[in-house]
Amino acid sequence: IVRLEHLTKTFGGRTAAVDDVSLSIDDGEFLVLVGPSGCGKSTILRMIAGLEEVTSGDVLIDGEPVTAWPPKQRDIAMVFQNYALYPHMTVQENMAFALKLRHVPAPQLTTQVADTAHLLGLSELLDRKPKALSGGQRQRVAMGRALVRKPRVFLLDEPLSNLDAKLRVSMRAELARLHQRYRITTVYVTHDQVEAMTLGDRIAVLDQGRLQQVGSPEELYLAPANRFVAGFMGSPS
Ligand code: ATP
Ligand code: MG
Repeated sequence: IVRLEHLTKTFGGRTAAVDDVSLSIDDGEFLVLVGPSGCGKSTILRMIAGLEEVTSGDVLIDGEPVTAWPPKQRDIAMVFQNYALYPHMTVQENMAFALKLRHVPAPQLTTQVADTAHLLGLSELLDRKPKALSGGQRQRVAMGRALVRKPRVFLLDEPLSNLDAKLRVSMRAELARLHQRYRITTVYVTHDQVEAMTLGDRIAVLDQGRLQQVGSPEELYLAPANRFVAGFMGSPS
């Protein structure tokens, strides 16, 4: 279980970008975090990953506060909004990189990369450099690079936002399939309501750094806690 307790982030002297957010993410759950631009979604993910210092509050994994732990120790993988592959490395090398850093022995590394590549339909592309890939293929490599070490927690920050509509729909299905298969605890940020409804076991709605409501897609749609949630979910009035 990943637990956020009174998580707060203030940049400089301004109002909090993330304001007292408390939330539990169950093992194997796919939680979607939604809200308008600037509401604090990326900041929350970055604090979970340890890439952003917490102003106050805690991040707990299996009951243990990891707030002070460096990112590498947290067993968390993140795919960024503007993911960047290493341009001078092949797909194989891009995917192997995190394993190398963790001193995974070569035979195991090769097997793990091959398995993940197979799962993501990248087996034929392992020797290519990123510039010789399509947008969707690059996105798949970015996910493969994060998933290859089977992290405890998977964080995705609008991973499909740069893809065209058609590709977005097929990648969405692929993500659902991956989740079925591995059941990695996932926090997925999007501002696409359809994506939230189709992927999320639960959805957390954020506005101006504050958590508005957390619940199943049905709950949020049919019983929104306030006008903001209703508006965001397109609930019948
Ligand atoms: P988007 O949907 O546009 O990606 P977001 O919900 O991910 O938005 P964040 O990136 O978490 O929003 O930003 C939350 C708030 O914190 C914004 O007002 C942003 O300007 C501010 N902010 C984020 N990073 C910094 C920073 N390094 N320094 C100062 N302010 C920041
Ligand atoms: Mg963001």
